[in-house]
Amino acid sequence: MSRQVLGKAIIAVLALIVLVVGGKELYDHRHYPEPVVLGPGVTRVESLSDYHAPLKGTTNDAKVYVLEGQEEGGGVLVLGGTHPGEVAGILAAIVMVENAVPIKGDLYIIPHISRSGSTGTQPTGAFPLYYEIETEFGSRKFRMGDRVTNPLDQWPDPDVFIHYPEGQSLSYVEIRNINRCWPGRPDGTLTEQTTYAAMQLVREKGINVVIDLHEAELLYPVTNCIVAPTKSATIAALAQINLGMDFDIHTEPSPSGYRGLSHREVGDYSDAYPFLFEAPEPFLDQPTGPKTQELLLEGVDEFLLAAGRKGLLFVEYDETGKPIELRVGRHLHTLLGVLSEWNWSSACPPGREIELECPDYYDLIENGVGAFLRDPDAVGPDQVVFD
Ligand SMILES: [Zn+2]
Repeated sequence: MSRQVLGKAIIAVLALIVLVVGGKELYDHRHYPEPVVLGPGVTRVESLSDYHAPLKGTTNDAKVYVLEGQEEGGGVLVLGGTHPGEVAGILAAIVMVENAVPIKGDLYIIPHISRSGSTGTQPTGAFPLYYEIETEFGSRKFRMGDRVTNPLDQWPDPDVFIHYPEGQSLSYVEIRNINRCWPGRPDGTLTEQTTYAAMQLVREKGINVVIDLHEAELLYPVTNCIVAPTKSATIAALAQINLGMDFDIHTEPSPSGYRGLSHREVGDYSDAYPFLFEAPEPFLDQPTGPKTQELLLEGVDEFLLAAGRKGLLFVEYDETGKPIELRVGRHLHTLLGVLSEWNWSSACPPGREIELECPDYYDLIENGVGAFLRDPDAVGPDQVVFD
C-alpha cells in the first residue's frame, strides 16, 4: 500500500469514528423515551393516529392524554411543544397531565404536538440535547427540541411554501412549522397531517376551547400575552384584566391575513375558540451568552440585561431572570383564567362549562416545577407512558 493510499485510509477511518460517535448521541436523543406519569385525572391515553390513521407509525403520532371530568361539560384541547424549544409549554402540559383533575368537562392534552421537532435539537446553535428538572426523587430528563419538524421526517423543503388551503406564500422552512400548517390536510406533508389530525379531534369531540402554549424572545413584542382572533377576543381581554393583578400580560389580535397559525385557522375551520399564550424565554433571544441548560431554565443573561438597561426589551427584566417556574406558572394561571371567562361568556353553550383543579402560578412560584412532576419509578409500569 502506498503512503498516499494509507493516508487516505486513515482519514476515512477517522471520519467514520467522528460520524459514529457524534451520530450516536443524536440517535440516542431522537429515541430517548421521555417518561410521563399518568396523574389522578387521566382516564385514558390516545394517539393522534386515532383521529387520522396514516399518522400511525410516524414520529408525529403524538400521545393524547384524556382527562374526563366527573360532571359532563365542555371540551378543552391543550397543545404543548408546537415549537419544541419553547419548553415552558411542554412542561405546563406535562404538569397538567400529572396533576390536573377536571371537575366539569373534559381535557385533551398533547404535550408534544410536534413530536418530530422534539427529536432534533440545534447542534449548530450549540443547543443542549436535554434539560433536567430537579425533584425530591432526583431529576426528570426531557429532550430539548428544535422549532420545526425534523428533516429526517420531512425533506426536502420547496423554494416557497404555499399554505393549504388559503394559498398564501410563506418562507420555505415554514413548511415544517406546525404553526404555519393549520388547518392541515389529510394527504399533505407530515406536518400538515399532524394539524389535520388535531383538527379532526377538535371536530369529532366538539372541543370548545383550544389553547396553544408557546414562548418568545424578550426582544419580540408578542410575548407575555394571549393571542386571540376576533371570536375569542372578549374572553381573552376579560382574562387579561383579571390576570393583570398577578403578572404583566396583554392581548394581541390574530391578524386575519396571516395564514396557518393555530389562533387563526382553528377558529376559522371549526367551532372552537382558539387562544395562543406566549411566555418570555431569554434562551430564544439571539444576543445571549452560551445556550446552556442554566440559561434555558433560569433565564438570566448579562447581554439581555444590558439590552434591558437600554430599553430594548418588551418585558421587564432584571437579575432574577425568567425562571422556568414563573413561565410554566403563568401558562397554567392564564389557562385557568381563560377557562373561567369561558364559563361566563355568552359564547359558552349551556352545559359546556369547564372547571378543573390544577396547580396555578403561585403554586409553581412557591414550590418550583419539580414539585409537580411525579416519580416514574414510584408507580406501576402501566402508569408511565413514554412520549
Ligand atoms: Zn412558538
